[in-house]
Amino acid sequence: MKNFILIILLCSQLQISFGQIVLRYEPCTNCQGSNPVYDPAVNYSTWDLNSDFGPRDCTSCTWWHQGIDYNIASGNNNTPETGFHIIAPFDGTITYASLNSSYKYIIIRDQNNNSRNLGFGHIFDSRIGVTQVSGDMVLKRTDDESNWAIICLSTAMAYCVEAGLQVTYGQNVYETQNIFLEDDPIAPIGNSGGTALNPYDPHLHLYYANDPTMAVSSSADRNNAKNPLQIVDHQNTNYNITIESTNNLTEYGKTPFYNGGALSSVKVKITLAGAALGERYTNATMDIDSTLIFIKRYGEADDNYSLIIGGNYLSKIVMGGRTDHKRYPSNGWPSNNASDIAINAGNNNRTGIVPHAYSDDNQGNHDFLFFSDFYTRIKNADQFGGTLDFHPWQPQCS
Ligand SMILES: [Zn+2]
Repeated sequence: MKNFILIILLCSQLQISFGQIVLRYEPCTNCQGSNPVYDPAVNYSTWDLNSDFGPRDCTSCTWWHQGIDYNIASGNNNTPETGFHIIAPFDGTITYASLNSSYKYIIIRDQNNNSRNLGFGHIFDSRIGVTQVSGDMVLKRTDDESNWAIICLSTAMAYCVEAGLQVTYGQNVYETQNIFLEDDPIAPIGNSGGTALNPYDPHLHLYYANDPTMAVSSSADRNNAKNPLQIVDHQNTNYNITIESTNNLTEYGKTPFYNGGALSSVKVKITLAGAALGERYTNATMDIDSTLIFIKRYGEADDNYSLIIGGNYLSKIVMGGRTDHKRYPSNGWPSNNASDIAINAGNNNRTGIVPHAYSDDNQGNHDFLFFSDFYTRIKNADQFGGTLDFHPWQPQCS
């Protein structure tokens, strides 16, 4: 059993096999006036994305971005987007809503596919507990004051997690429903969650909620937010991915893979395919959501790479995540907390305006990610082929 050496091949996993969601909005003119006029729905473009999923660093933004941002008028506080309709991309149900706090969002579930759960953040504005009008959509407390509803005046629909409540606006009484049809306007784009001193640019923050019935915005629930680009149509980014180095993962039989006294990690280099050194793209998005780690026995042919999988071991690592703990990078990240998976992801002196994979500091076409916590899968007590099963290797890079 001496000739085991850890050789790791890592690939990105970007896509899903079922049909991708096309996300749309309806722009309007005179949107904050008394008679907003809505235009036909427009598809969001990949180039409307201005902040990627995952780690980012900036003085006034969230360090771990739990979704992606669409901003069709990036960087303009007077952007006309406020009040634009967010269009339902499928028939579905409103499963969660946060409408009585500064930051407002709803989560919806696809009626025909339980794994397609999207959340829409920053709807309406930051005022709490008051009736708001944005475009032709109204945020109003239900008549029994038990909940809040979103009324679309032009469709006469009133949406709420709880169906069957009454909500009165003007001369009309609406009955709430928690289901909607594809193409229905379900919420207005807004800027809720900011402050008077530091308002957000109006934009759509999109979640992919693993569990659509629970909040995705709290630090305690970070595992609930996945990269929406797994299920939302977008222009793919192609990467080359290589292992740069490993730390505390050494040859089996000489020193243990993990001796219990040090954290193991793997340094991964992600390079934009087709880009030269010194070149970086501004119109590419970080759409890696998870990585798969493959190993083989030392000296064996390359086609013997295998995915580590077993009763307690699975080499799939969600980007920035841990498989043994429910924790993403610690709240202290990026302070190089040893418990963090993504302890360093290039230079973080910027927001996600450009893809995080391509750092500004070296003007390179690559970035480094560090994955740790391998001891949960590879321990010196493990005998390959014993407690671990091998899984056929499938290329998953794109
Ligand atoms: Zn966001």
